[in-house]
Amino acid sequence: MLPKTHLIINLFISLPLLFILKPIYVLIFFFSSFLIDVDHYLYYVFKKKDLSLKIAYKWFLAKKDKWLEMSPEERKKHKHSFMIFHGIEPLFFVLVLSFFYQPLFFVFLGFLIHLFEDLIEDIPLQTAKRKLFLSYSIYNYFKKK
Ligand SMILES: [Zn+2]
Repeated sequence: MLPKTHLIINLFISLPLLFILKPIYVLIFFFSSFLIDVDHYLYYVFKKKDLSLKIAYKWFLAKKDKWLEMSPEERKKHKHSFMIFHGIEPLFFVLVLSFFYQPLFFVFLGFLIHLFEDLIEDIPLQTAKRKLFLSYSIYNYFKKK
């Protein structure tokens, strides 16, 4: 799912939360629900050794188009990228840290809603497993080198 789609959906989720939560917590939730995708940019920097955000965005859009044209079998053979904030492991890590610093709980919730939204797109593509487990996507990344 594109960051702007997350941004729009999560804006609508965040607004009613303003009635029940402190605004700072709603802001933390809202920003973390789409800024989690900064890991895509970090992946691009790691992979292409380039810092251009604009080129990174275009690179991912082109990759996504190719990805959507593939069959599920082709996608399985294809090397996957890995996103360091996407998966149960980083989610669990943030949850544990939130016991020591409470505002991180809203980062956890932002990441959680983001992953659910990503899964809506990944389940039909049969790529949900790599989005759910960071360890699985890292394993696949280095296995298919
Ligand atoms: Zn995402």
